[in-house]
Amino acid sequence: MKVSKVMVIGAGQMGSGIAQVCAQAGYNVVLNDLKSEFVERGLGVINKNLSRNVDKGRMTDEQKQEVLARLTVSTDLHDAAEVDLVIEAAVENMDIKTKIFAQLDEIAPAHVILASNTSSLPITEIAAATKRPEKVIGMHFMNPVPVMKLVEIIRGLATADEVYQVIEDMTKTLGKVPVEVNDFPGFISNRILLPMINEAVYALYEGVATKEAIDEVMKLGMNHPMGPLTLADFIGLDTCLYIMETLQEGLGDDKYRPCPLLRKYVKAGWLGKKTGRGFYTYE
Ligand code: NAD
Repeated sequence: MKVSKVMVIGAGQMGSGIAQVCAQAGYNVVLNDLKSEFVERGLGVINKNLSRNVDKGRMTDEQKQEVLARLTVSTDLHDAAEVDLVIEAAVENMDIKTKIFAQLDEIAPAHVILASNTSSLPITEIAAATKRPEKVIGMHFMNPVPVMKLVEIIRGLATADEVYQVIEDMTKTLGKVPVEVNDFPGFISNRILLPMINEAVYALYEGVATKEAIDEVMKLGMNHPMGPLTLADFIGLDTCLYIMETLQEGLGDDKYRPCPLLRKYVKAGWLGKKTGRGFYTYE
């Protein structure tokens, strides 16, 4: 099966990045969100990223226009009738994702592969909302998508080998490096990363050190490119909380309990960089 047209659901941080890299690799892309203003915001981010590439001499203005011409916008899931692959990047919430997948299953022709960019939710459970679990797979891109090389490819219990192969090959055409992972909560990346971030929040909560000191120790001491609290702000504190809850529930172990301070920030609407305030404040 050949993928030529892709639909991306959710035009937020991740969805806009995924749409951009797909369009840059030559795929025709439909970018979908609930409201046209959300899709326009996603397109605005793509436009800005491409302009930066032109300014830095990484692409010509003509190439930028070609990429933009491959992108169309949508607020109607029925547009999935026209594509070969759907990559869902809506919010990290099982009810929302299963509703989207059940609807897509009704709309998309039988050959269409349904992928989720979920950070931690079980692909097998998302697949069970459809009548095509063999065509459901995880494609876990990293943030920021245009920069980060890794894509974790997650096999649900029923994912067909052929489907896995199509997605692995397609991922390589995006200039990314696919890594195969089985379907367990948090996969590999977030099972290891998020407990570290959560522990950093506990260290702040317990007054072990200031946020700046915690980040500095991990940057200079462990050679991490950014500290865990800065990284949490970039990921989104709501997404961090969802992932910790998924780990705690899915693995049945309270060692994954989310720090109360993380919960408090999310309740306050301090979701990190995307809302202008998280552990740090942003312009
Ligand atoms: P975000 O909040 O920036 O964007 C989510 C978008 O989905 C919003 O624009 C929202 O309007 C839209 N949306 C919500 N419900 C929808 C629906 N029913 N139909 C269409 N659009 C809908 O979130 P994000 O950071 O882009 O995360 C999206 C997904 O990617 C989540 O599953 C998250 O876990 C995963 N992810 C996030 C990161 C990260 O670092 N932020 C990394 C990897 C994977």
